[in-house]
Amino acid sequence: MKIKEKTLLEVVNSLGMTKEVEIGCEDCFKKVDQFVEMLREGGEPDKIMPLVQEHLNVCACCKEELEALISALEAEDPK
Ligand SMILES: [Zn+2]
Repeated sequence: MKIKEKTLLEVVNSLGMTKEVEIGCEDCFKKVDQFVEMLREGGEPDKIMPLVQEHLNVCACCKEELEALISALEAEDPK
């Protein structure tokens, strides 16, 4: 019983910690290509890369980068 409670606490703690993890502009920039690629393929990058999505929500600079990338790709290869 004691072990079970401890495990549960650890899971709760790790979940809490995961939520606090944020990526910076550099990490976002590295993943934004993949993010756009997934978007264009009809995937759900916001579910697969929630941290990138989260960063894009709060960082105007990276959001601009994302939008520029999308328009560049669409100009190059319209779908
Ligand atoms: Zn950023």
